[in-house]
Amino acid sequence: MTSIAFIGLGNMGGPMAANLVKAGHSVTGFDLSPASCDQAKSDGVNIASSTLDAVRDAEIVVTMLPAGKHVLSVWTDLLPAVKEGTLLIDCSTIDVESARKAHGMAQERNLTSLDAPVSGGVGGAKGATLTFMAGGSKDAFDRAEPILSRMGKKVVHCGEAGAGQAAKICNNMILGISMIGVSEAFVLAEKLGLSHQALFDVASTSSGQCWSLTTYCPVPGPVPTSPANNDYKPGFAAALMLKDLKLAQEAALASGASTPLGAEAAQLYALFANAGHDGDDFSGIVNFLRGQKS
Ligand code: NAD
Repeated sequence: MTSIAFIGLGNMGGPMAANLVKAGHSVTGFDLSPASCDQAKSDGVNIASSTLDAVRDAEIVVTMLPAGKHVLSVWTDLLPAVKEGTLLIDCSTIDVESARKAHGMAQERNLTSLDAPVSGGVGGAKGATLTFMAGGSKDAFDRAEPILSRMGKKVVHCGEAGAGQAAKICNNMILGISMIGVSEAFVLAEKLGLSHQALFDVASTSSGQCWSLTTYCPVPGPVPTSPANNDYKPGFAAALMLKDLKLAQEAALASGASTPLGAEAAQLYALFANAGHDGDDFSGIVNFLRGQKS
């Protein structure tokens, strides 16, 4: 049994902490939201009165927070309070620069740290089927892996500090672009009198095959479990896709990478989200492209 502090018990962090409790670990959590704390408490998480109280006796600290500024602020608060030898793992999706800054702050205190963002959404967090992409030293990874594997089905060591965040934004840039590509194909097929099912049957077994088509098909019918069949309830909200595409664009700008389709995808998702669809599943972009803004 490991003593784990979990800061950020929201839509993702709550069920992830609950899975660590189920795995037999002692989990002490904190969140600014009383409702999140109450839910976590009913899942067996000990609720502390503050971040500092939560981390004091922890061997491992996990953070699952909205953005880089929250992670840097929480790590600044908690670093002076943790025990020698504590491992810090940030599972939030944040910009690469902030992730590297957080690693640097831990290093100044001789603490090991890992950036370990996830893919798989709330369903993956609940079902412990997340994919973790980790950045940091081999030592940090080897210590974190047995804990992360209780919250996910795959844990990949991507490289040194920030490599997990880099993998996350590259993956989600592929996803945003491919969802738009698949959606455009369905919109064109409609204009050409080709049925959704016919396009699906061909493209899903041809060179157009991809996850956005075969697992997460943006039109109702061909893949019954996709959000298109449930009025585009997320799933993965357009606001989160936009957040990740913006992080990819920031990283592209900072590193000098050429990502014209990533930039276009970010613009389209900004238009879609700003038209009142930020809470819709990101596959709802197909309706926006078709010109039916519902
Ligand atoms: P969320 O808003 O539901 O949860 C974040 C929690 O952090 C909130 O409960 C908030 O009260 C808490 N918080 C904020 N500042 C805090 C502080 N100073 N101290 C303690 N608690 C604080 O968000 P989420 O959906 O759980 O996402 C968390 C992270 O995971 C984000 O970085 C997101 O991009 C990433 N992510 C989300 C999904 C998804 O499908 N929701 C998928 C993959 C990755």
